[in-house]
Amino acid sequence: MEIIKTIEEMKEISSQARRGGKTVVLVPTMGYFHEGHLSLMREGRRRSDLLVVSLFVNPTQFGPNEDFKNYPRDFERDRKMAEGVGTDILFAPEVGSMYPPDHQTVVRVEKVTQNLCGRSRPTHFQGVTTVVLMLFEIVMPSAAIFGEKDYQQLVTIKQMVRDLHMSVEVVGMPTVREADGLAMSSRNTYLLLEERKAARSLYGSLQKAQELLQKGERDVDRILQEMKRILQSEPLARIDYVQVCDARTLEDVKRIERDVVVALAAYLGKTRLIDNLVFRNLSPNPQHR
Ligand code: AMP
Repeated sequence: MEIIKTIEEMKEISSQARRGGKTVVLVPTMGYFHEGHLSLMREGRRRSDLLVVSLFVNPTQFGPNEDFKNYPRDFERDRKMAEGVGTDILFAPEVGSMYPPDHQTVVRVEKVTQNLCGRSRPTHFQGVTTVVLMLFEIVMPSAAIFGEKDYQQLVTIKQMVRDLHMSVEVVGMPTVREADGLAMSSRNTYLLLEERKAARSLYGSLQKAQELLQKGERDVDRILQEMKRILQSEPLARIDYVQVCDARTLEDVKRIERDVVVALAAYLGKTRLIDNLVFRNLSPNPQHR
């Protein structure tokens, strides 16, 4: 595996690979790898001749009072893990070269970024789309792989790629979970022991939604009520949002008649965690059991 730190070198390697008819696939990350990241890299490996993993803690997607400075970082550990799954290039640019002092362009996707995390993190997604567009320009991949864990991010990037007629395939991969169901996240390392235990309630509430849907419940208020009951029974968890949205537009729905995402964000102490489950092809008029 090669470690590339400059944008020029990365562009040169990618151009050469493409000229040689190689398939370049990109997995964008902020590092501090876990099995979720590795599952994306394995999929990238399977689809590519040249697998590029980018490692860049992107300052513009953090709000002023968020955790950019404290975000967990361990380059040596990440290097070994990426190499272990067969990554060809670990691209780790400097903040100052991605955002030189004169940088002044942002990419903003309008509608799908408004709801859910967009409410409490109003500038987050424009930071994400701006850096992802830059990474696509630098690495020129034919496909890029993202996790459904960050479902709104995935929808936003797909929208950007459609709107700007970009020629990259955006691939979504299922959420990888800990044994007790907690979605893996680099931020889980912030959790104190008691908070970690309380964090089970996030997936617990999503499982409740799944159970209700399987029983035929289609009324969103009733589903949200049950989910909130589970989250609120955990004193260490504080709800930011729990919502059921159209899986493509991310607008709230009242009754479940199309594909939906059940999404939530909650604070465990100071740590904000998100999770979701996507429900596709539900029968529209199921029999109540
Ligand atoms: P991050 O480093 O947190 O920005 O995440 C990099 C990529 O890994 C994003 O596409 C995330 O959606 C994805 N990812 C993060 N956690 C998980 C997980 N538990 N399962 C699957 N993908 C994940």
